[in-house]
Amino acid sequence: MPPRSSSPLSSLDALKRAGLLGTAAQAAVLDHLQHAEHGHFSAEDIHRRIVAGGERMNLSTTYRVLGQLVEAGFVAIVPLGKHHSLYEWNRGKAHDHLVCVVCGRVEEFSDPTINRRRIAIAKKFGKRFVGKTLALQGVCAECAARAHPPRPRAK
Ligand SMILES: [Zn+2]
Ligand SMILES: [Zn+2]
Repeated sequence: MPPRSSSPLSSLDALKRAGLLGTAAQAAVLDHLQHAEHGHFSAEDIHRRIVAGGERMNLSTTYRVLGQLVEAGFVAIVPLGKHHSLYEWNRGKAHDHLVCVVCGRVEEFSDPTINRRRIAIAKKFGKRFVGKTLALQGVCAECAARAHPPRPRAK
């Protein structure tokens, strides 16, 4: 079998370089997000996929590990309210999100004005943003159309 481009060992190295212990759980979550098709996943999604891949991990460990990976800058978090967040591999490209509150669809955008303001606001409060993005919530065009179907055009 050909070696994968990133073996679990290199994930462990990266974790240790970031000052983490490099536990099997951290490596599994890191590996998973790094190799997943780009997207935004809930902790439950990530947990389900890891378990489906044959790893043993419980959901609370998944949450804890995700928190550690966000702190270390590997993973970005898209906060969607008190008890719900999405996670994505941090590609180092600052961007924000528009999230449909009906179907959960996520669109990414990057706006230079928001990015500048973000830095200015963080400075004003003496904080530094770490892997956190804006999540603007709304209703996508498809869900809006489903809720208010356009009147059929007269033939
Ligand atoms: Zn929608
Ligand atoms: Zn994103």
